[in-house]
Amino acid sequence: MTLHTPALLADPFLLPVPHAVSRLRTERLARSAKPFLARGGPRGERCPGCRLPVAHCMCAVRPQLTTQAGMCLLMADIEPLKPSNTGWLIADVVADTFAFGWARTEVNPALLALLADPQWQPYVVFPGEYSAPERVVSEVAAADSGKRPLFVLLDATWSEARKMFRKSPYLDRLPVLSLQSEQISRYRLRRSKRDDHFCTAEVAALCLELAGETRAAGVLDAYFDVFSQHYLQARRLVPLAPGDDVHLRLQSALELPA
Ligand SMILES: [Zn+2]
Repeated sequence: MTLHTPALLADPFLLPVPHAVSRLRTERLARSAKPFLARGGPRGERCPGCRLPVAHCMCAVRPQLTTQAGMCLLMADIEPLKPSNTGWLIADVVADTFAFGWARTEVNPALLALLADPQWQPYVVFPGEYSAPERVVSEVAAADSGKRPLFVLLDATWSEARKMFRKSPYLDRLPVLSLQSEQISRYRLRRSKRDDHFCTAEVAALCLELAGETRAAGVLDAYFDVFSQHYLQARRLVPLAPGDDVHLRLQSALELPA
């Protein structure tokens, strides 16, 4: 395993192909009249591959998995610009990740084409109580249904997500996958989480688990922990410790059979 040096990262020809969230960020930046200033995050020059300060870059441990399931991120306007956005981590790990900016008045035709593509069975992941009961499902159809699950995740603050859910008519015909409280409790226990707030990457991991992709779910969770650790250490100016617990956990998650 080699660590990227800042010199390598500065060379666009040596960077991996940017993923969907990275491309969306670039598009969004191009439309910005003024630079986006992230508040409260770590300072210093950022690595374009992982958005962390260069000294805390995590590109060297980025796993990429081929999964049966796909992820479709509908992102609130500012989300792709936030260095702490975890939709980015989903796109790092899950090869078939798509990302679209959300706007109330228009919809990207590529998103409509994706939702209509017969290889996918899309599910909007959202609490069931906000939807008509006949749309709500709690399970993902088995792989023998002939379609691959596509999880539509609303990557936004909670109030923005509710608005997106209500004001996107093209989502209205899709089943709503509502995560069940027992699944959430199991997840909280396993991850020793104290609260019920899940970031987008954690919701994606829960969805992968529901789709029977346990290894991918574990890798995404472990990768999210690595990101949180690097982010925190960068903010506190603590040097990286590549062999610590979170890195070992990611390593063992990757070693599990698919
Ligand atoms: Zn990096």
